[in-house]
Amino acid sequence: MPTINDARVRLANDCPLRPKGDYVLYWAQMYRRLHSNHALDYALHLARHTGKPLVIYEGLKLNYPWANARFHAFLLDGMAENAAEAVRVGATYWPFVETTENSGRGLVARLCERAVALVTDDYPQFIVPAQIRAIAAKAKCRVAAIDGNGVVPLSLLGPPTAAAAHLRPKLHKQFAAAWAERANPIPAFEDVAPKKPLKPPFEVWTVPSDLRAFVASLPIDRTVPPLEHSKGGTTAGRAILKEFVASKLTRYAEERSEPDDPKRNSSSGLSAHLHYGHIAIDEVVDVALGKDWSPDLLNLKTRNKDDFFCRDANVNGFLDEAITWRDVGFQWHFARMQQVDAAGVKSWQDGESPSFNFATFDFSPLDEVGTLQRVLPPWAMASLAKHATDERKHLYSRDQFERGGTHDKLWNAAQKELVVTGRIHNYLRMLWGKKVLEWSESPESAYRTLEYLNNKYAIDGRDPNSYTGILWCFGLFDRPWPPEREVFGNVRFMSSDNTAKKFDLDGYYDYIRRLEYLR
Ligand SMILES: Cc1cc2nc3c(=O)[nH]c(=O)nc-3n(C[C@H](O)[C@H](O)[C@H](O)COP(=O)(O)OP(=O)(O)OC[C@H]3O[C@@H](n4cnc5c(N)ncnc54)[C@H](O)[C@@H]3O)c2cc1C
Repeated sequence: MPTINDARVRLANDCPLRPKGDYVLYWAQMYRRLHSNHALDYALHLARHTGKPLVIYEGLKLNYPWANARFHAFLLDGMAENAAEAVRVGATYWPFVETTENSGRGLVARLCERAVALVTDDYPQFIVPAQIRAIAAKAKCRVAAIDGNGVVPLSLLGPPTAAAAHLRPKLHKQFAAAWAERANPIPAFEDVAPKKPLKPPFEVWTVPSDLRAFVASLPIDRTVPPLEHSKGGTTAGRAILKEFVASKLTRYAEERSEPDDPKRNSSSGLSAHLHYGHIAIDEVVDVALGKDWSPDLLNLKTRNKDDFFCRDANVNGFLDEAITWRDVGFQWHFARMQQVDAAGVKSWQDGESPSFNFATFDFSPLDEVGTLQRVLPPWAMASLAKHATDERKHLYSRDQFERGGTHDKLWNAAQKELVVTGRIHNYLRMLWGKKVLEWSESPESAYRTLEYLNNKYAIDGRDPNSYTGILWCFGLFDRPWPPEREVFGNVRFMSSDNTAKKFDLDGYYDYIRRLEYLR
């Protein structure tokens, strides 16, 4: 029986299943969990269909773009938990952590030599599209990429969206059918366990007793240290979700834009756990809707985002961010990725400062067209180009931005929050991006600064929504805003003065001061 989840499957090469293989392999690249995971469900299905065991591989290399102790620590928290979970549920889980440069090179290809098929996450950003292309070209077994990014399969949402308002009705229309087919929250592994022991072609990572000391021993950038008050993994993600629903969701609609100490502000703080796949979007939606919710409550006739899922404006407001806005970024990437000529197999060039190349969907060097010209709506590009030579009242280098050394107290506070905590409140993140555009020598250099800062420090960075969030500051998903201004042209302008008028920032500044104290 065909299901809506068939739309999640993309065969990345033409190889058939290899019946003589030893196992079906699931390579958890982005959705690093053993439950509520569409790619894992598909791999389990293939294992049962072929009567072969399932092997789950999760790897961590040293040299991904912006690799540092902060991201490593967060990822390793999740891997340690997956290792324990695998023992508990009887899954065959082979984790690998590189401790010397390039010792993991070619590992997935070696695993594929014995595989019936490789199943992996079809994630449309970072190094994942290039890694899938590379392994699909090399492997002699079927490579299936599974889109487990959102509640609704992205391939059902059409060409790249120009605005959230265009995507919302499409998501609403498909939600009920996709929700009925969501990923299995408690998959069973007994029937896909190997009948005789399988030997991995590498030394499986054993979880060290002191994870932070282990991270400190690795040859990676330690100038961005692990987060002191934030842990990766499903347990930590679930605790954040529980706390959010218990004490913040009831204020979400009114207060979510108010910058404050994250303990007090009403945003969820879930984006990092969603980014690394430590928590599933299905689970977030399920818990936010609550035990008494049923699909009968969906208001299929409404055109109003505040009463689609249920009659509670807070829940609708939150789900509009977690579903519509989150998917805007994923869908925009996913649809563009389909248009890229997949013939070329390029991978990341280890360079000073990587930049994602939207022409090739990898980190190969940019051509002279540049990112903004390639991806912005024509009105935004034309307006920015017209004002490219406008005098900048303030001009800062990347280094000055990074150190939080501008004249603007609020901008510096937001930058400090990013550097120390790996987060910036959403409203300030918009202001933060807009000001870099205003105070950089050109829009393209502002974009590169934002890509660098966001991806180097943000714990949820290197995500489709990192790029679409940054590009929103340059006019993506937006419309022209009169009056035409210096530097911005018709791109929406934001100012720190207006932000200070709109919100009481005392609590936020106090929080930032305490961060400095902690440092
Ligand atoms: C310049 C800039 C850079 C950004 N970089 C990132 C990034 O690196 N990673 C990232 O996940 N998001 C990014 N965003 C979007 C947004 O700021 C974050 O998703 C949000 O602040 C995460 O905090 P939260 O989990 O508390 O959000 P909540 O308000 O609790 O929202 C719940 C979830 O909805 C999604 N969401 C909320 N707001 C947005 C939004 N505006 N766009 C897309 N999805 C949204 C996120 O998955 C979030 O976890 C960026 C936005 C801007 C303007």
